[in-house]
Order: sequence, then structure tokens, then C-alpha cells
Amino acid sequence: MWRSLCNYLTHLAEREPRGWYPLLCVYYLTYACNFRCPYCSDGNGKPYFELPEETMPGYRVLDLLRTARRSTDYLVITGGEPLLHPDFAFVLDHLPSIRFDGVILTTNGWDLTPHLTAVNASVRYLVFSLDTLDPIKAQRWYGHGPNVLKRILQNIEAATRLPGRKYEIILSSVATPTNIEDLADVYRFSREVCRDGDVLDI
Ligand code: SF4
Repeated sequence: MWRSLCNYLTHLAEREPRGWYPLLCVYYLTYACNFRCPYCSDGNGKPYFELPEETMPGYRVLDLLRTARRSTDYLVITGGEPLLHPDFAFVLDHLPSIRFDGVILTTNGWDLTPHLTAVNASVRYLVFSLDTLDPIKAQRWYGHGPNVLKRILQNIEAATRLPGRKYEIILSSVATPTNIEDLADVYRFSREVCRDGDVLDI
């Protein structure tokens, strides 16, 4: 925490990156994804799910994160869909031992429920992607069958109800001309299922 504050003040004072330290580390656990969102892009116009799927084994991921921890206090685990990493559960179980001040996990929500207890022990902010409450549109966008939206909503609700939950929930929407009219419904859903402190990010 204090180091993050010092880093931030150094960044404000220093015009040159020499001596700068990262405020957070963003780690792409895997590029694999079981969804097919039309806007998906690695920043160069290629969807993550078309990128090579090679991943590091879990023990090497943890070595890398231990190294990152020496220079930064916060970690974002993302993808692709990070839960598709073959050692996701192993990495999640061992994260508390690395003692980041805060861990943020992003997910499309398809398969999260079996991991909720481990998420509660390791993650401070749990970020679900949710772009629409229209089941037809969700099926077309996510490319994952007719019940995809129902299952995601059930998993979000399960995440809100976990006994003793400590993580906060963030619903993250990508606004495009195709779904902009759906976002008010997503916002209303967030108010219904999430407690105070949980947020909607668009
Ligand atoms: S869930 Fe994320 S990684 Fe997967 S297709 Fe959609 S935008 Fe891409």
C-alpha cells in the first residue's frame, strides 16, 4: 500500500520513466476462451481465442508472480478466460502465500461457481463480463449455446450469496452500438443482485 503510494508520487514527480515502478501487474493466464465476443481483440485486431494457447505450468506462473510481487502490490489475473488455464485452481490456491495487497480476477462467468471458496480466499475484486440481459443477443455474441446467459446470471448470483464472502463484485460491460440500449438493464440487474460496495463498470 505505502509502496504503491510512493510509486504513484514518484510517477507524478518524475517526467522520465527511469525509476518508475509498476502500480499493478496484469497477467494473462491464458489466451484461450470458450466465448466468441465479436469485439474481442488483443489490441492488434486479433481475438484472444485465435492466439496461441500455450501456457506456463502453474508452478512457473507462481514463480513469475513472486518475482512481480517484489515490485508491485496489486495483481490482475485475466485472459482470455483465466479459468481455462489447466492449473487455474492450483494458482488460485497458492496466491495468498504471495501476499499481494489486492488481487483482481476477471471472468466471463461460465464456470466460476466451483471455484468460489478459493476465490474468496485469494481475490479482492471479482470482475464479471456482462454486456446484455437479452438471451438471444447473448447467445449470438458469446457463441456458447442457448442457455449461456441464464448460466452466467446464476453464477453471478451464486457469487453474491457465498457465505462469508469478502470479495467485491464488479460487472464490466463493453458498450458497442449493438448493445448500448441493453446497459440500463444490466445496471438495474447489478443494483438488484449486488450489495452496497459492488459496482458496475462500463
Ligand atoms: S470473454 Fe473476453 S476473451 Fe473471451 S471472447 Fe469475450 S472478450 Fe474475448
